[in-house]
Amino acid sequence: IECLGVYTSGGDAPGMNACLRAVVRTAIANDIAVMGIRRGYEGMIEADFVEMERRSVSNILQSGGTILKSARSEAFRTEEGRRAAANSLRENGIDALVAIGGDGTFRGASKLYDEHGLGVVGCPGTIDNDLYGTDQTIGYDTALNTAIDNIDRIRDTADAHNRLFLVEVMGRDAGFIALNSGIGGGAELILIPETITEMDMVKERILSLMTAQRRSTIVVVAEGDELGGAQGIERALRDDAAFSDIELRSTILGHTQRGGAPTASDRVLASRLGVAAVESLMDGHSDVMVGMTNNEIKLTPLRNVYGRRKSIDYDLLKLTQILS
Ligand code: ATP
Repeated sequence: IECLGVYTSGGDAPGMNACLRAVVRTAIANDIAVMGIRRGYEGMIEADFVEMERRSVSNILQSGGTILKSARSEAFRTEEGRRAAANSLRENGIDALVAIGGDGTFRGASKLYDEHGLGVVGCPGTIDNDLYGTDQTIGYDTALNTAIDNIDRIRDTADAHNRLFLVEVMGRDAGFIALNSGIGGGAELILIPETITEMDMVKERILSLMTAQRRSTIVVVAEGDELGGAQGIERALRDDAAFSDIELRSTILGHTQRGGAPTASDRVLASRLGVAAVESLMDGHSDVMVGMTNNEIKLTPLRNVYGRRKSIDYDLLKLTQILS
């Protein structure tokens, strides 16, 4: 490898900067030049490249977001768009890539490899934790801790007034944040996209908790739950006379979960995966994602990462029934 290109793409996640830093410094330590590609595939097509040195990544380990910026690109979904991207890379001497992002990012990277023979290794960067091939993704631990911190605060005020709170956390297709923040925050009920949720069951459970035990109740719901997130549930409860005496509040945590300084665990994960990505490319691997399973680096073909679904831990779900 003469010159390595690195980019962040799709939804941003805390720890992407730590990963970028590790990629840049590992490449330089091995005498490989590094170009930062700004704004993901958008910047790749437009040749928005910036030369990276050791100093370019000073003091970013602890910061959220991504200094390279992220973007979504419609043009890159087309063959012409990807040809333009491959040409920009070649014209600037970039002969290998590290992609930091989620499954969409990897689908695109795989096509670049298939159609133009560009070596590429992916690093899992998404708060959703929904990538097959790694126990945790970069950004997930931070998002989870932010969610728990918020649930704790809501618990204080919920307790003071004996209220029912519906707390919506991120997760359009995956319930990792909801399930784990719900357990960590002591939620009475957790609703996730992976399971079938029936409104009658939800109502019954809430009523039995609130009337029999007369205590504050917190329901954690993933945004992608089929009942329509916190607002969908709130509407249904407000339409039901059985809930007319219950003080009900909804909170959508939203983008607070994407921001903030990465936790220690995310920083270490991001650093290890960044180093492993460059080393894997140097060893001749391509079209793979570097992940961490059981505390060991593992390579998974990109097509398996986006082709398979990572399962939630159903034992954890059972746990909430005992604990709440
Ligand atoms: P997250 O799910 O965390 O937001 P992501 O990487 O899945 O991250 P996407 O917006 O799905 O985010 O994908 C990022 C970019 O990758 C898209 O804007 C698009 O340019 C490219 N991409 C996604 N899917 C494909 C595909 N099937 N073919 C080519 N390019 C794709």
